[in-house]
Amino acid sequence: MSVENIFDLTGKVVLVTGGNSGLGLAFARGVARSGADVLIWGRDAAKNKAVLGEFSEKYPGRCAVEEVDVSDEQEVVAGIASGVERFGRLDTVFVNAGISTMQPSFLDITTPIYEALLAINQHGAFFTLREAARHMVARAEAGDPGGSLVICGSLSIGLGVPGLEHYAAAKGALNSMSKSLAVGLGRHGIRVNTIAPGYIKTEMAAANPDEGIEGLFASRTPLGRVGYPDDIQGIAVYLTSDLSSFHSGDTILIDGAMGVTLV
Ligand code: NDP
Repeated sequence: MSVENIFDLTGKVVLVTGGNSGLGLAFARGVARSGADVLIWGRDAAKNKAVLGEFSEKYPGRCAVEEVDVSDEQEVVAGIASGVERFGRLDTVFVNAGISTMQPSFLDITTPIYEALLAINQHGAFFTLREAARHMVARAEAGDPGGSLVICGSLSIGLGVPGLEHYAAAKGALNSMSKSLAVGLGRHGIRVNTIAPGYIKTEMAAANPDEGIEGLFASRTPLGRVGYPDDIQGIAVYLTSDLSSFHSGDTILIDGAMGVTLV
C-alpha cells in the first residue's frame, strides 16, 4: 500500500501579490513546497531577489519575481499579461499585498493616509482580481475552466480596532466583493474565498507601535498564542488544490479561534 499525496500541486501556477515577505511569502512557500510554480510580486527589488534565490534553491517548481506596484493599474495589467505569457496560465491568485498604517485614533487618519492605504489594499486588490478574472474567464471560454482567487482579509472585517478604520474599510470592502465575485465567476469554475488571519507576527505586525499588542492578542486567543507565517501555509495549499473544488464564497478564519471568542 502506498501513501497518496493528495495535496500535490505540480503543474499549478500560483501568483502571490506581496509575496516577498510576511503572509504572502508564507502562502508562496506553502504552495511551492507542494510543487507549484510560483510568481511573486513586490515593489522591493532586493526582497524579490532574495525570495527568487530561496525558491530556486529549495523548491521543485519554477519561480519568477516581478516588480509590480499593485496600486498602479497599468503595472497590474502588464504584470498579469507577462505572468500568463511566462507560465502559460494562472491557476491561483493570492491577493495579499497590503500595508497597515495604524494611527493613535480615527481622528488622526488624515485624507492622505486614508487614500494611500485604499490605493494599495483596496484598489490594488480590485485591479488584481479583475485582471486575474479576465484571464481565467478567457481560459474557461477556450475550454479550460477553473481557478482560485484568494483574498487576504483580516479579523478587522468583523471586529473593531481603533486607529485602523481605514484598513478595516478596505478589508471589509474586499470581503463583500468576494461574495459577488464567487457568484458571478462560479459558472466558469472559478472559486473565490477570503482568508481572515488573526494576528500573525510578520514585519507589518512588528511595525505596530503598540508594544503590548502581541501579549494582548495571545491572551485573547483560545489557542494561547499569536500566529506565525507558517500557520497559514496549509490553507494556501488547500485553496490551490483540487480538493477545494467545491469551496467558494467563504470567509475562512485562521486565528486560533480568536474571532469567535465572546469570553
Ligand atoms: P508585510 O509588511 O510583511 O508584507 C507586505 C507585503 O506587501 C510585502 O511583500 C510588500 O512588498 C507588499 N506590498 C506592499 N505594498 C505593495 C504594493 N503597492 N504593491 C505590491 N506589493 C506591495 O505584511 P504582512 O505579511 O503582515 O501583510 C500581508 C497581508 O496580510 C496584508 O494584506 C495584511 O493586511 C494581511 N494581514 C496581516 C496580518 C498580520 O497580523 N500580519 C493579519 C491579517 C491580515 P514590497 O514592500 O516589496 O512592495
